[in-house]
Amino acid sequence: MTHKLRVAAFAGAIAMASASATGAEPSGHDAHAWSYEGTTDPSHWGELAPDFFQCGTGKRQSPLDIDGATPAHLAALTFRYRPTRAKVANTGHTIEVRPTSDETLVTSAGSYRLAQFHFHTPSETRFHGKAYPLSAHFVHQDNQGRVVAVVAVMFRMGKPNPQLATLFRTLPRPGAQPVPIPGRLNIAGLLPTSQNYYTFPGSLTTPPCTEDVQWYVMKQPLTVSPQQLAAFRTRYPMNARPVQPLDGREVLSGD
Ligand SMILES: [Zn+2]
Repeated sequence: MTHKLRVAAFAGAIAMASASATGAEPSGHDAHAWSYEGTTDPSHWGELAPDFFQCGTGKRQSPLDIDGATPAHLAALTFRYRPTRAKVANTGHTIEVRPTSDETLVTSAGSYRLAQFHFHTPSETRFHGKAYPLSAHFVHQDNQGRVVAVVAVMFRMGKPNPQLATLFRTLPRPGAQPVPIPGRLNIAGLLPTSQNYYTFPGSLTTPPCTEDVQWYVMKQPLTVSPQQLAAFRTRYPMNARPVQPLDGREVLSGD
């Protein structure tokens, strides 16, 4: 694949080669290539494909800088995450973990299936302008397969997280088949003990930036060790979309 692209570059297809170098889609759909740096960076996502339009013109985009949230009594979230078999995929943009069983999140709005979770460095969500070094996004779908709820968990620098150790050890190459994790993964070990959260309406933070996604940002951070963060950053030095305008939205802060 890489060799072919290099040959193409020498033949004059410079744009194709640069898309490859910025970590674009491993599937080879260059028309939909996007990245975090260079000519297909987040400021261009909305122009890269017709179905990416919300990245450019959406009014409820994520991530947000949480600053000035409104205190509220929020319903508790119920995580029905059991130790499960899962596969790890390297999407070319992040490490994505897909459980092979039905794990669910119950909110006041309904019950949703955990489709996958993945990581960003630095955390995309900011707090008074400040980011954490790493975040995990737990992506939940309704029974029509639409992404409707994302739970974000922050990681600050500290002790190693045992679940991250398992995940960052099992890392397929971009575009390779997803790799099964040995044994069962304790997904609940990637959730904080305190369930206080912020919530607001938003979008996917990667193309196509689809809206109508409710965000739940957990307040209590977990820890990641410097070695674990370095392992992730070896593959993905930076995979965070910049914060987006609030556009009149209200962020609610639970207690
Ligand atoms: Zn994400």
